[in-house]
Amino acid sequence: MIKFLDLPKQYQSIKNEIDSAISDVIDKGAFIGGPFVSAFEEAFANFQQTSHCIGVGNGTDALEIILEALDMPPNSEILVPANSFIASAEAIVRTGHVPVFCDMRHDDMTIDVSAMKAMITDRTAAVMPVHLYGHPCDMEELLSVAKMFGLRVIEDCAQAHGAEYKGQRIGALGDAGAFSFYPGKNLGAYGDGGAITCNDPDLARRCRMIANHGRIAKYDHEFVGRNSRLDGIQSAVLEVKLRHLETWLEKRRSLAALYNKHLSTLNSVQLPHAQNNVRHVYHLYVIRILNKDRRDHVIESLKEADIGHGVHYPIALPQLKAFQHLSQMETTPLANEAAAQLISLPMGEHLSEADVLQICEKLNNVL
Ligand SMILES: *Cc1c(COP(=O)(O)O)cnc(C)c1O
Repeated sequence: MIKFLDLPKQYQSIKNEIDSAISDVIDKGAFIGGPFVSAFEEAFANFQQTSHCIGVGNGTDALEIILEALDMPPNSEILVPANSFIASAEAIVRTGHVPVFCDMRHDDMTIDVSAMKAMITDRTAAVMPVHLYGHPCDMEELLSVAKMFGLRVIEDCAQAHGAEYKGQRIGALGDAGAFSFYPGKNLGAYGDGGAITCNDPDLARRCRMIANHGRIAKYDHEFVGRNSRLDGIQSAVLEVKLRHLETWLEKRRSLAALYNKHLSTLNSVQLPHAQNNVRHVYHLYVIRILNKDRRDHVIESLKEADIGHGVHYPIALPQLKAFQHLSQMETTPLANEAAAQLISLPMGEHLSEADVLQICEKLNNVL
């Protein structure tokens, strides 16, 4: 059996460090706020090379809090890729705005900046690039369009801890970045968690206040905020795991290279494409079965061989029931087509090279 994800195995490899970090938090009673949260925020800001990091409850909250802090007019249109997890668009709706779905690039599957530009209207206030699967968006083009039209830029970094665009870490290339520490992400907590990164001290302060009942000091509530906090135990776990993250990311990159090498002769399959000016961190290794009618057969064969898989994501956002009323079902043909072709193969530091070779052999036989 080859697992898609194996968190218990990862825990076993760092058990002593994790156990002692968790009992430290309990010994000190530092459950909410306090030294463990600050230490992780500082370490993560340092890792992402941003001036500020604010721990929050989860990645969806991180997006919502940034959107709220940017204080855009109600019902602003916000550009977002059609191929992402629902949270990207959900945060836009929950903060009183309207998602406008954009198509993707055929090769690396991130937002197509020229398609995005074509969707801009008088009511467009922001764009939310998603560094999908760990591959950074074409930020230079995107930022130049954003600048031309006066748009705010909120990076959805939930899948891209440690990814780089032209040698710079993602997370504060635009106004702010939203990270998720959902357990299965490249840096995952032992429960929910998230973070906001940015370089603007005023925006950072506003995000921190929104996430903590509109206050900085204990009972000095300046406005109505909410409660969305990264807690002490999650922070301590994340701080331990952050020390291993570089090694784990490099392992992902080398396993991806191994997959690429051994699947390269399959001309009915499109392999993940990494642009040469980025550091792709392979949160997911996603292949496309170009003849979509064969996808179920491939999935069945993986199941028979006890090889884990996923589909990220089987339905493009405009086609979800939640968004059908926006009548954008047909405006993103490439994303719609891709949704029927995708298969995510096992990826992560739990895999051995032999595992990857076995998966490649299976796929070479089936296809
Ligand atoms: C996981 C994810 C989120 C949401 O993060 P949560 O911590 O689960 O709320 C947002 N956007 C993308 C692209 C994601 O993959």
